[in-house]
Amino acid sequence: GRKFLIGGNWKMNGSKALVDTLVTGLNNATWNTDEIEVVIAPPAPYLDLVRSKAKKEVNVSAQNIYFEKKGAYTGENSSEFLKDLGINWTIIGHSERREIFKESDEVTAKKVAFALAEGLSVIACVGEKLEEREANQTTEVVFRQLKAIAAVLKPSEWTNVVVAYEPVWAIGTGKVATPQQAQDVHHEIRTWLAANVSAEVAQATRILYGGSVGAKNSGELQKEVDIDGFLIGGASLTGDFVTIINTRA
Ligand code: 13P
Repeated sequence: GRKFLIGGNWKMNGSKALVDTLVTGLNNATWNTDEIEVVIAPPAPYLDLVRSKAKKEVNVSAQNIYFEKKGAYTGENSSEFLKDLGINWTIIGHSERREIFKESDEVTAKKVAFALAEGLSVIACVGEKLEEREANQTTEVVFRQLKAIAAVLKPSEWTNVVVAYEPVWAIGTGKVATPQQAQDVHHEIRTWLAANVSAEVAQATRILYGGSVGAKNSGELQKEVDIDGFLIGGASLTGDFVTIINTRA
């Protein structure tokens, strides 16, 4: 079976005080690590602090990295820094990177391939905008995003990839996808992986749902067969995050 992954993306939020509160909360929580994997992604300046405070059952992730190891790339973060800090996850291709910072499908794919080659595990994000859903382009958009990634990966590299389906209209809006809406797209993604990568990869790859997940809706969403976890924004900054873990555990 696919291990359920509960991810917290703090985005550009936090402080040393919040790190203390949230990490203490997680350190006091318990879950079966054979069945649940917890990954939190604080802002880059807090990665070291979070890694050093959090118990080992808490995986720590960057929110983004660049596709070069080092050099004249002012403002960027490197896989080397992560490894130096004992951090082995990164999110790539979040819709905020794609939209606000204009990261293309190709740049996203290049980053995914680079991160994997560097030995990191990757949460690769895909998802359609409201106007795309309304124009019935949801699968077209998601498949285009997946295709760019699949084009640069060897089938064996998918072992360290988690796909996060985050419909942009559900992010930070309080408008969560219904369990059926999420399940439908997750199923399409799995079918796409089977047809375009392999049956094994389709079966093994975890597909997370993200977009207004909270303690009130995680219980229903997690019943869907193709929902293998969550990528949680706003609620990961509150006690809801542990509630969501407990609701699964
Ligand atoms: P919210 O949970 O705040 O809607 O954010 C989802 C998200 O973008 C996680 O990466």
